[in-house]
Amino acid sequence: MPPDGSEELRPIASLLARIGGVLILLGGLLTLLFTAVNYYPAYRFGPVGHSFWGGLIAGFIAILVGFVIFALGERLKPGHSDVVLWSVVIMALGAISLAADGWFTGIGFIFALIAGILGILWAVIQTSGTPPPVPTMLYARACLACGALNSGSASFCQSCGKPLPRP
Ligand SMILES: [Zn+2]
Repeated sequence: MPPDGSEELRPIASLLARIGGVLILLGGLLTLLFTAVNYYPAYRFGPVGHSFWGGLIAGFIAILVGFVIFALGERLKPGHSDVVLWSVVIMALGAISLAADGWFTGIGFIFALIAGILGILWAVIQTSGTPPPVPTMLYARACLACGALNSGSASFCQSCGKPLPRP
């Protein structure tokens, strides 16, 4: 595990994707419910508008998308490959769910977006991150004169006192 803490990104991204999936799923259920009773709250937004069929389709899409995002949250966990691919898919699906207007899908989309960004950020860190500097203290260096092992920070042999080669 690299010491930069980037491994923490994937469990967090996975959790955010799962929360986002649940919220979008709930948003879809609410959209269906509101559509069924012809109730169009003032806070609703998005491209669906206030039509029966629009609400019905958007609700079903959001339920499906929410379920898939929740399931894909597993893919963001450490140990799974293609993190960037699944991150992009999660963000794209989250954007689709915005068709089901409402606070739940809106907030769920934000969760899915952040989850995807964290997943991609993790991949970027893995590919571009420079290898961590290895502390020279850990290396025991052998004296060229007497062969005694010295700690990496020593300038002179701790056994015979001769200058040590720089690491
Ligand atoms: Zn020595």
